[in-house]
This record gives sequence, C-alpha cells and structure tokens, in this order.
Amino acid sequence: MTLDDFPRYPLTFGPSPLQHLKRLSQHLGGAQVWAKREDVNSGLAFGGNKVRKLEYIVPDVLASGADTLVSIGGYQSNHTRQVAAVAAHLGLKARLVQEKWVPWDDPTNDKVGNILLSRMMGADSRLDDAGFDIGIRDSWKSALREVEEAGGTPYPIPAGASEHRLGGLGFANWAFEVAQQEKEHGVFFDTIVVCTVTGSTHAGMIAGFAALEELTGVRRRVLGIDASATLDKTRDQVGRIARHTAELIELGRDLRDDEVQVLDGWAGDLYGIPVESTENAMRLGAELEAMITDPVYEGKSLAGLIDLVGSGDVPRDSTVLYAHLGGQPALNAYHSLWS
Ligand code: PLP
Repeated sequence: MTLDDFPRYPLTFGPSPLQHLKRLSQHLGGAQVWAKREDVNSGLAFGGNKVRKLEYIVPDVLASGADTLVSIGGYQSNHTRQVAAVAAHLGLKARLVQEKWVPWDDPTNDKVGNILLSRMMGADSRLDDAGFDIGIRDSWKSALREVEEAGGTPYPIPAGASEHRLGGLGFANWAFEVAQQEKEHGVFFDTIVVCTVTGSTHAGMIAGFAALEELTGVRRRVLGIDASATLDKTRDQVGRIARHTAELIELGRDLRDDEVQVLDGWAGDLYGIPVESTENAMRLGAELEAMITDPVYEGKSLAGLIDLVGSGDVPRDSTVLYAHLGGQPALNAYHSLWS
C-alpha cells in the first residue's frame, strides 16, 4: 500500500498555513526561516500535531466499533486534549489518564489549559501520580480494563499516538503537503526542524521525506530537536517508528542512519521544565513575530532552530522550515514565567 491508499478522516481545515518569519530571519542574520503552523490546523479545540495523526487512526477507530477513546499523557498533555476533541467531534467518550509527568508545582497545573479544555469537552480525565515515560504504561492498561469492565468498548491510543501502527502516517503525508506548498510559494526547504518527544511526528516526516526523495532525488535534512530529556529512548523510538512507517508506505529501501537525526542540547534536564534558552526563544518568537510557543515543546525546538541558524550549522543560503506543532494551551500553567 502507498500512503494514498490509507483512509484519512478529515479533522483539519486542509493544508496548514506556511508563513515566512521575516523579522526572525532578519534578526538571526542567516538562513531564511519559515514556519508551518500545525497550531492552527483545525477547529477542534485549537488543533495541533495529534489531530493530523488521528486523521489516519480514526478510520480504524470507526471500523473497530469502539465507543471510548482511551489515552494517556501528562496533566498538561496536548495529546489527550486532542483525543478528547476528536472524541467529542465523533460522538464518542474519552477516558484519559493524566500522569504527573512534570514536577511543575504551580497550583493551577492540573486545572487550567489543556486539562480544563478536556474536561469542558466531557472527557473522563483522571489524575495519576506516575512520572514521565514515553513508553506503554500500566495506568493506561488499567484504564482500558476499567472501560471494558464497565461494559464499554475501548480503543487504545498510546501517548502521543506514537506507538500505534498508523501513528506515523499523518506526518508522512505532511512531507507531501510541504512539497505541494513549495510549488505554490516558489520556495524549497532544505532543512526541517521539528520538536520530538514520543517520536511519531518526526518519524512520520522522516518516512515521508524519504519517499519524496525516492520520487525527486532531492535530499533534505529533517532535524528532530529532543524535548524529552530522555534522549536514548526518544532516539530509539523515532528510529523504530520511522522504519515501521517507511515499510508501511512501501518505501522500498532501508532508511539511512543520516535520515534519523535527533539533536540534543535544548531539552534541559527535565521534560516540561523550561531552561534559559527556552524562555529566550519563546520571547523572541513572541516579540518579533507574535508567534506564540510553549515551554514544554515548541519553545525548546525554536531554541534549537535559533542556535542552528546562528551557528551556521544551517547555512546562510538555506531556507529552513520550523514545524510549529501547537501546544499553546499549556502556557496557562506557566503564567509565572512572565508574571
Ligand atoms: N509539540 C507539541 C506541541 C506536542 O504536543 C508534542 C507532543 O508530544 C510534540 C511537539 C512532540 O511530538 P511527538 O510526541 O510526536 O514527538
């Protein structure tokens, strides 16, 4: 099967907007920086990267006859908010496990932002004390069991929709969307910068751009910026999901090692805790472009992009695409950074 053979259930507005960040590019004095805005990709509870992944998972949900989406994330998980949104949109229930992934002691952390939105959309969102881990969790398995015991039919969606057979397809397709938009805008992105944590966003892009390379012969760099602070796990998960997705869309060759690049240096010591470079990047994006980023994901990948352009690692004659994957609702729990 090629990518086009997989059913896609529309949850987005269509292709997400491309934006030339002229003031940021000028400020950095190097490569031209553009953004592709997944943070405004859908009308479902502010959208984000998971909505795109879920477009390829929903047909399987509907075929399964499930009545409850069961998923997991941190208290301020963007992913679980998007699962709650898709459940509401489809008339299904959502059971969410919200773990204490981030030692962020703001008293609003389990009340505002993403978790507030999930509750508004009618999700059964329950707090759990467990800490951060991108793998498969016991709490999630128990939630699946509980739904069954209560007579429901659960559909399991793991953290970030990553460890799901179809989890990489949404962003494999993103690569082809980028290629189409390049034609429309008369631009070519030789480098893509993307935040990576549970891995299937970056992994999907790797598979998609590899498939595009097979068609066009043109190579690009897809650079993942680690925001998990558990680099080895994320690197392993990205490689595994990229290879699986490449096989699924019948790439017809193995991925090269240079196609799987997860860069370290901007995550700080802990997932979810901003460091100086995160705050500086968030401030720069906001003050120069009114482009709002969050301290958990996009602030960290933006910090990576700023340094890569500033150091010339992404050369002056490059045009680099920053994948803005969403995440702004979590800002509410981080109000103290600016107050
Ligand atoms: N950016 C935002 C806003 C997210 O919510 C996530 C989710 O984890 C990511 C980046 C990372 O994506 P992935 O988990 O697919 O690596």
